[in-house]
Amino acid sequence: MRAETAFNKMLAIPGAWVASVTFAPEGVVVGLRRRRRRPVCPCGWKGRAIYDRSTRRWRHLDLGATKLFLVAEIARIHCRRCDRVRTEAVPWARPGARHSSDFEDVVAWLAQHCDKTTITKLLRTTWETVAAIVGRVVAAHLDTRRLEGLYRIGVDEVSYRKGHRYITVVADHDRAGQVVWAGDGHDSKAMERFYNELGPERCAALEAVSLDMGRAYAKATTNKAPQAAQCVDPFHVVQKANEAVDKARRWAWNDERRRHPRPKRPPGRPPRGSPPTPTHTRWVKHTRWALLKDPDNLTDTQLEVLHQLRRSGSVLYRCWQLKEGLRDLFRLTDPADAPAHLDWWLAWACRSRIPAFVAFSKTVRANRERILAAVELGLSNSRLEGLNSKIRLINHRGYGHHSAVALIAMIYLCCGGITIELPLR
Ligand SMILES: [Zn+2]
Repeated sequence: MRAETAFNKMLAIPGAWVASVTFAPEGVVVGLRRRRRRPVCPCGWKGRAIYDRSTRRWRHLDLGATKLFLVAEIARIHCRRCDRVRTEAVPWARPGARHSSDFEDVVAWLAQHCDKTTITKLLRTTWETVAAIVGRVVAAHLDTRRLEGLYRIGVDEVSYRKGHRYITVVADHDRAGQVVWAGDGHDSKAMERFYNELGPERCAALEAVSLDMGRAYAKATTNKAPQAAQCVDPFHVVQKANEAVDKARRWAWNDERRRHPRPKRPPGRPPRGSPPTPTHTRWVKHTRWALLKDPDNLTDTQLEVLHQLRRSGSVLYRCWQLKEGLRDLFRLTDPADAPAHLDWWLAWACRSRIPAFVAFSKTVRANRERILAAVELGLSNSRLEGLNSKIRLINHRGYGHHSAVALIAMIYLCCGGITIELPLR
């Protein structure tokens, strides 16, 4: 069998056959000849108005440990529909790409499943290339009808660049928290861009919007979709309660240190057997997870920490009770009990004399109606919470650190309901 025939069978490149195979220092170079004569514009227009011709090379899937490149003649045509000169479309690669579609699909599939270093090492490519490929694959696969049929949506902000920059993410509660829109910024303007894209008709169809306790998203929603019920995601309420516990813990720690200052230590390593840090100060320092975690998931040591705090009558135990008291609101069996429960909690928190909780109770009071609406509508927060941690994981794996555009493409790829088929024949 001739080498060309063997490569033709093995690669099965759509719309072309193998005309030559050469071994170059950088890898195997496979020359392709097109089956179709008349060039096609990426817009779909077919014509013979050829402007010029050149040779282009695409990287294809590796052949064993060797890189493999496809080479073919490609024409630029004067497209009547686009009314400009454009490079013709080829069946084995996306417009503008220097990698074959098969290679790009493998990159996108890997980007859905593993981290930056794994992909770049395995495929011998750079992270910039991966980001460009993800952008192209998302543009090709993203469902254009994803903004249709939205009734109950959730909005959240996601930080990147170590919390210095933000993007806004909109998810559909009825489609398992699938991301339907993501945009740069986290102010009311970012949110309004989404509503503008949605258009007045689809905005009018929205029944409920779940948001955080900030003002920006609420303001945009009141402006653009005034009929939609606004509710605060339980997930955001609990998150803020945890922040209040953390603040109170630091406050208690500083308070303890002020009341029991550490004796001045002589310079150098302390002698063997010298007394450790006073226990009460250490207590406050080591209580973080015992206070913040879901009580069902506490380890034995953390449970013991909680019991000790209760026995010693610590202010931190009251913080924990306050936080769990608020969480109980979302565990009520009868939503009709919610207003009474929330008012009882508000009265308790503002009389607690713990500064972090007094301040937090003011935020909760300002959002009272919207929190109760969430309980009444029973919007499940677990999906948005899952989404939030998934996006944080994407960010953590090294994706999208450079720009909002790259992070948004990665969020669509991993959370936008895109299924990538691996090129397995
Ligand atoms: Zn065109």
